[in-house]
Amino acid sequence: MLSYDEAIARILSALAPLPAIELPLVDCLGRVTAEPIRTLTDLPPFSNSQMDGYAVVASDIADASTDFPVVLRVIGEVPAGHKPTVAVSPGCAVRIFTGAAMPEGADAVVMVEDTRYHPSSRAVEIKEQSNPGQYVRPTGEDARRGDIVLLAGTVMTPGAVAMAAAAGCALLPVTSSPRVAVISTGDELIEPGGTLDYGQIYESNSYAVAAQVAAAGGEIVTRLRARDNAASLRDALDQAADSGADVLVTSGGVSVGDYDLVKSIFGERGEVDFWKVAIRPGKPFAFGRWGDRLFFGLPGNPASAMVTFELFVRPALRALAGHRMPTRGLIPAMLAVEVAHGAGRRSFVRAVTAREDGGLVVRPTGGQGSHLIRPLAEANSLLVIPENVDHLDAGALVNVMLLGDTL
Ligand code: AMP
Ligand code: MG
Repeated sequence: MLSYDEAIARILSALAPLPAIELPLVDCLGRVTAEPIRTLTDLPPFSNSQMDGYAVVASDIADASTDFPVVLRVIGEVPAGHKPTVAVSPGCAVRIFTGAAMPEGADAVVMVEDTRYHPSSRAVEIKEQSNPGQYVRPTGEDARRGDIVLLAGTVMTPGAVAMAAAAGCALLPVTSSPRVAVISTGDELIEPGGTLDYGQIYESNSYAVAAQVAAAGGEIVTRLRARDNAASLRDALDQAADSGADVLVTSGGVSVGDYDLVKSIFGERGEVDFWKVAIRPGKPFAFGRWGDRLFFGLPGNPASAMVTFELFVRPALRALAGHRMPTRGLIPAMLAVEVAHGAGRRSFVRAVTAREDGGLVVRPTGGQGSHLIRPLAEANSLLVIPENVDHLDAGALVNVMLLGDTL
């Protein structure tokens, strides 16, 4: 049986980022740049004032102080967004506002708090000395026109979106986001909203998968249901392929039961690369390829489906979307309670991680049966227990994988 490390390595080595598309900047949050982004202008595009105050010739006021202010003649003003209409010569000043272009001749700004204006004489007392460049933001301080401001492979955070906008880019080349078809299998499944007969349950995995796909930056193109027979599975797989999906995710039917037909029916179309990973929950997970499409066969138990999605499908979706670090990192936390562990498989225990007294503390969310949904719903993290560990004491330093972006 493959280890977790071997399984994830095999999946990630099987895929490359999807082709690039151009998207309006407002749609780029969370996307990954497919090419370097260059600024269309110097940043700032012109030398401008960092303060509301007066643009001056610094040498005029080199000795100014509260006791010995220097008086300058105010010859005009420049609000932000307006071209300066006058040049500043020695003995003169121009009223200026934050972000306004520096008028010719001026080489420093005195902030308004260090001045006193006399409207009757249109003169300003400057009560603080200055030096050339003071409170002036020079042209190109951030970047020069044509400079790369975002490398290829940059995740578009709000800061990166600000950068692209400031650089004048309305459209960005970003990696396409993966399209996903999800098929849940099982004769016992009824859509939420329907009425349950004895022996039936509400279908939950496709809802969980759709939510996980969205959280991973992917796009659900179709959500299908198949019954536990060959014809229904063939039909669902073919419909999923016709939907244009890059990724097919099935749930259920990959175990060893008589009605677990997913692998064999998928095998008529594509190739199963591996089946079974030494993890808990989720051992019967299957991975394969059908042409350019990736296939992920999640076990049907809700905890197994959700955990194997997090461990294998999410990183694949992120790698397809161009992320250079597709897997979630592990962070250290202190285990609050004693945990027994059946050695041999790596366990991913549904858990709550919380900040307590400045450190992170992790607690399993209760029963770990892979059919139990409440411990799954409560969990914000997975406690990772290595294969060779058979027992963890309360207080042990352990690794957790956060399921959200932060706590
Ligand atoms: P399977 O992997 O098909 O043998 O299913 C294992 C368990 O998961 C069974 O108890 C199923 O009823 C349950 N199960 C399978 N698919 C789903 C689903 N889509 N939603 C909720 N439970 C499911
Ligand atoms: Mg089933």
